[in-house]
Amino acid sequence: MPDIQYIIIAIVVLALASTALVFSTRRKRDDTIELDEKTSPYISDRVGEEEEAEAEEGSVATLERPESVPSRMERLRARLARSGALGKTLLSILSRGDLTEEDWEEIEETLLTADVGLEATDELMDKLRTETKVRGTSDPQVVREILREKLLEMVDPAMDRELDLTPGTADDGSPHPATVLVVGVNGTGKTTTIGKLARVLVSEDRTVVLGAADTFRAAAADQLATWGERVGVEVVRSDVEGADPASVAFDAVKTGQEKAVDVVMVDTAGRLQNKSALMDELGKIKRVMSRTAPVREVLLVIDATTGQNAMTQAKVFAEVTGLTGIVLTKLDGTAKGGIVINVQRTLDVPVKFVGLGEGPDDLAPFVPEDFVDALLD
Ligand code: GDP
Repeated sequence: MPDIQYIIIAIVVLALASTALVFSTRRKRDDTIELDEKTSPYISDRVGEEEEAEAEEGSVATLERPESVPSRMERLRARLARSGALGKTLLSILSRGDLTEEDWEEIEETLLTADVGLEATDELMDKLRTETKVRGTSDPQVVREILREKLLEMVDPAMDRELDLTPGTADDGSPHPATVLVVGVNGTGKTTTIGKLARVLVSEDRTVVLGAADTFRAAAADQLATWGERVGVEVVRSDVEGADPASVAFDAVKTGQEKAVDVVMVDTAGRLQNKSALMDELGKIKRVMSRTAPVREVLLVIDATTGQNAMTQAKVFAEVTGLTGIVLTKLDGTAKGGIVINVQRTLDVPVKFVGLGEGPDDLAPFVPEDFVDALLD
């Protein structure tokens, strides 16, 4: 009997001991796993990938909705007014009444400093002289009216500033996207402008494909790709640096056609060192883009802060490609607003958009009345 008792006790003790052992081993294993999760590079990579995937999912789900055009006009009006030194100075001189030759010289200098250009300055001075004589007043309200009227005439509200985005028809009768070629010297804000323009189009519910035909700078294509990603716009580019820009432009149009988008917009390189090479390159891009349907818009981007330089560039590009419109960038914070008048008169091409800052939606259609009012406010 006592033997059986000892055996039972021994069994119980053994059972308890083995249970304790199992628990302690399991805890140890749990600890090990915890430790592993914190330290294993594999697991941490995996976690990183998961986070990235989640972030990617999030970014797809939360594509940016660009600001609508009317709302950006409201916001940007104040910024346009910053380029208003021209209007305000003229207003204060003209309000002196009984203007002397010195006053007129001051007016001339103000216009030239604001890059209105010689010819347009002479014309505006004549108009102002005649009108102030006829009305014979220094009443600030009347002077303001005269100046507004004459500046508006110079900016020419009759010019058609709408982007022509009429869809084309391909040879086989299928619809063809409207094509836009964007040209300009590097640094003027070309790529930024294309990104901003794509956002304007997306905000109007148009579908867009961008072509990165500036194949000499990988950074330009990367920049364009970033703009595109933010609003869900496909960017066609070449993986080979220095690839034929015309073939990228062609691929972009083809992709746009296959995906049946509304607009294909192509970015180009703007190296002015060799004018004839530039001519050849841009001519070829335009020809290739026109193969299936005519290019609707050729937009020249110029930097408002570069004055005479911008005018020289404008003339070269106008020779190279038949321009249909101008985008004037960096009009925020420059008193050189007169370049609007100068460039339009020189090229007989309308300013269609103005860049008013570095923000993604700091681009607005150019409205002559708003521009002149901003100069005078
Ligand atoms: P690209 O070489 O012609 O393609 O020029 P980018 O698009 O790279 O722009 C050159 C610089 O100009 C960038 O720093 C832009 O943020 C800046 N930029 C472009 N447009 C505007 C604008 O309207 N206002 C201001 N203040 N900066 C601008």
